[in-house]
Amino acid sequence: GRRDLRDLRQDLQIIFQDPYASLNPRHTVGRIVAMPLQVNGITPPGGVKRRVQELLELVGLNPEHYNRYPHEFSGGQRQRVGIARALALEPKLIVADEPVSALDVSIQAQVINLLRGLQRDLDLAFVFIAHDLAVIRHFCHRVAVMYLGRIVEIGDRDAIYTRPQHPYTRALLSAIPDVTTLGPAGRIRLTGDVPTPLNPPSGCRFRTRCWKATDRCATETPALTTRDGGTQLTACHHPEAGPVAVGVADAADAQEVTE
Ligand code: SF4
Repeated sequence: GRRDLRDLRQDLQIIFQDPYASLNPRHTVGRIVAMPLQVNGITPPGGVKRRVQELLELVGLNPEHYNRYPHEFSGGQRQRVGIARALALEPKLIVADEPVSALDVSIQAQVINLLRGLQRDLDLAFVFIAHDLAVIRHFCHRVAVMYLGRIVEIGDRDAIYTRPQHPYTRALLSAIPDVTTLGPAGRIRLTGDVPTPLNPPSGCRFRTRCWKATDRCATETPALTTRDGGTQLTACHHPEAGPVAVGVADAADAQEVTE
């Protein structure tokens, strides 16, 4: 019901991808960050303004800039405003939808490190959605790989990056560009295009591009299962065994985010 959902939403907040489109240009930053409190009828002990200024400070912004408008901030600062807004209700879970992909590369590390600090200090859980494999490795403890709308593999970070079992995960990792460590043998080149999700292939959705596909892959949808009783789950009839080629793991390591 609506009332239940409304209560639940206080625990679930979102950080949007585009810090330019996700802030109302006609509202001051103070009003934007205060909005979740007002919508939920919450008056913090020290007042709304004080709480908003605390939140601005928490994300590394000057609390005195309470009355400024979004256009007076840079892209990275705007994303910090969006993060402050997401923190206003002290949520338990934040969905971060490509939170740094719209930012300049030099700013990405600052925002990622801010989020990591919040994750640690506020004991927050994140669902962090991204295409950047280095950023995911830097930020996430557990990683789920999706292909055509389905999770094909899920596991702890180190397992996914060093011992991927799904062919698609392997191909993804092998595509990390690093001219110093990746020779031609390490790169897996997928052929063909991604099929339309409106009419996905039967059985395994990856079968039209998978080099290991068999008849079984066309008729039987693979379930997410663990091979060794561990926490790594793979949806594949013929999973890969062993670690990734030398160089692929190193390339992922080399892309750790640094400020
Ligand atoms: S189930 Fe078959 S087609 Fe799908 S990833 Fe595994 S081997 Fe490839």
